[in-house]
Amino acid sequence: GPLVGNLIGEDHVNYVLMYNMLTGIRIAVSRCQAKIRKPLTDEDYTARHKYSFDIVGNELTPSAKYDFKFKDYAPWVFRELREDYFHLDPADYLLSLTAKYILSELGSPGKSGSFFYFSRDYRFIIKTIHHNEHKFLRRILKQYYEHVKSNPHTLISRFYGLHRVKLPHGRKIHFVIMNNLFPAHKDIHETYDLKGSTVGREYPEEKAAKNPRAVLKDLNWINRGKQLELGPEKRALLTEQLRRDSELLKDLGVMDYSLLVGIHNMRRGNRDNVRRNTLKVFSPDMPLINRKKTIGKGPQSPEAIAMRRIMREADPQRLDDTTVVLPEEDTGERQHFIFYQDEGGLRATDEANENMDTIYYLGVIDILTPYNFLKKCEHFWKGLSADRHKISPVPPPEYASRFFAFMKAVMRGGEGGGRFKAE
Ligand code: ATP
Ligand code: CA
Ligand code: CA
Repeated sequence: GPLVGNLIGEDHVNYVLMYNMLTGIRIAVSRCQAKIRKPLTDEDYTARHKYSFDIVGNELTPSAKYDFKFKDYAPWVFRELREDYFHLDPADYLLSLTAKYILSELGSPGKSGSFFYFSRDYRFIIKTIHHNEHKFLRRILKQYYEHVKSNPHTLISRFYGLHRVKLPHGRKIHFVIMNNLFPAHKDIHETYDLKGSTVGREYPEEKAAKNPRAVLKDLNWINRGKQLELGPEKRALLTEQLRRDSELLKDLGVMDYSLLVGIHNMRRGNRDNVRRNTLKVFSPDMPLINRKKTIGKGPQSPEAIAMRRIMREADPQRLDDTTVVLPEEDTGERQHFIFYQDEGGLRATDEANENMDTIYYLGVIDILTPYNFLKKCEHFWKGLSADRHKISPVPPPEYASRFFAFMKAVMRGGEGGGRFKAE
């Protein structure tokens, strides 16, 4: 799968940005976490907490290596999402992201120019987003929150935080933290990004043959005759969840999102992992804490005090050359979600609902694109040379129903099976 990125060392062009992002998260999130929770109010959705970092430091922010400003958006809302609905352990979250300043950069895989970074254990992805996407997420945050609350098994990206770094010369970088759909401990043998649009949605097969990490598209799926092998039980569950998720996306007025599908073939196993596990990187030399342990919620609980100590002692500047060992199995939170329960994913089943030798890693990604003026123009221009209903930019209600219809058709025996034949 597209897991491996380039590790960011001090000589990397984005080292300062990474340092600032992680320092901001570490301070802002642990500050929010140390307070007593109270029920959310409407103001919490629009709240933003500002921090100013410099090399001297003050009572709010410890000294940092660089001068920069940091904003934490709707911290209470994201805290509640993380703890109550996404089942993340607060200390775990911070440790994964910031115990040592290690990220690997996937670069900018899409056309949007967004950058993707993995936390050192590959559990979390930091995606830089456009200012418009940022404004949009803030606008829909309450709807998103309500959806997650009433759909604990949603396939839509799990957003764990929304932040901004401002550099001294004024450049602003917005970013979200989200779940990595693909687990660190399993090789992904094939990856598809499916929209339900067929115009131009093909990754060249000759290139795909040479690059097992390629992200394939709708036409590759169709031409290869792929299906999601799911028996009646899982098929019904997945269909219903995708129906509800598409409904939300339609209501939000977004389009261009896709279903990301990672396929792990259990018979092929994890050959590539050998290389990945012995990558030489700069890694932590801090006390290992028991990750399974639950952390008390009160700010004065022994656990919370211990966590603050760990956060203080974790010294991001100290880099030592050791081997990172990626987790051999899944960590906690995925057990709570039916579509991520089987080794972090969804195991294929036959018509008798018996297990097969494939695991799927599924999620609906890239959901922050509203159907705005630009997209309407794209709809017009692309529609001149191709079928107006098969191009990627179409109005949200049409996008959602086409998306849902396609997803039903990709499942074995699903309704509408075979409807999407390549012309
Ligand atoms: P564009 O707008 O051009 O489609 P983008 O920059 O908005 O691109 P995304 O579509 O969000 O990027 O993602 C690009 C690729 O990154 C995906 O096809 C997928 O391979 C990978 N990716 C994105 N989100 C995740 C995730 N949550 N887990 C694993 N991989 C992901
Ligand atoms: Ca996309
Ligand atoms: Ca996008």
